[in-house]
Amino acid sequence: MQWLVTRARGLSAQESMPLADALAQVYERLATRKPLRLSASQPEPVLFLCDAGLGGLARWLRAAGYEAAWQPGIADDELLRQARALPATVLTTDGMMMERRLLRDRVIPAFWLPPTLSIPEQLALVFREFGLTRRGPRCMSCGGELRRVAKEAWRERIPPRTYRWLDEFFVCGRCDKLFWHGTHWQRIVATLTALER
Ligand SMILES: [Zn+2]
Repeated sequence: MQWLVTRARGLSAQESMPLADALAQVYERLATRKPLRLSASQPEPVLFLCDAGLGGLARWLRAAGYEAAWQPGIADDELLRQARALPATVLTTDGMMMERRLLRDRVIPAFWLPPTLSIPEQLALVFREFGLTRRGPRCMSCGGELRRVAKEAWRERIPPRTYRWLDEFFVCGRCDKLFWHGTHWQRIVATLTALER
């Protein structure tokens, strides 16, 4: 990552283009090389803090078993304050954010993602950068731990059709949301499984 930023700074100065554009260009050049190797992996973070534009990625990281915090419309200063206090690793698509002193000096660990990527592509990049492996899913809404529950006790909250067809139900220990492995989940699992190949 540091290598990417250094290269982008050089390009940005040379061509007098905004750093974010230079980063995107350096990344694109890198991505066309195969296989894609982005430096040695960073240590595995305990908690990710996603910037305002990465709510989708936060949900998918939770599905893959990682704690990822996200607040819509959070200001950069507040995001950095929280990342430092928690502590958490910042994920951002904002090249200017990477220029903030706290990130540049690595006081707060951070990883920049090209803004043009799809969510599965973002997830693949984060997995590679931090050397992550898929874990048991956490609550996609809040990141809390899920526990399996007997469906009979939750009948009132389950649509009748779903109740008839499925037997595995899970409740989030933090926000009390009820989950089951419907079609949306099957699609997510297919994508997560592809990450492991
Ligand atoms: Zn939850």
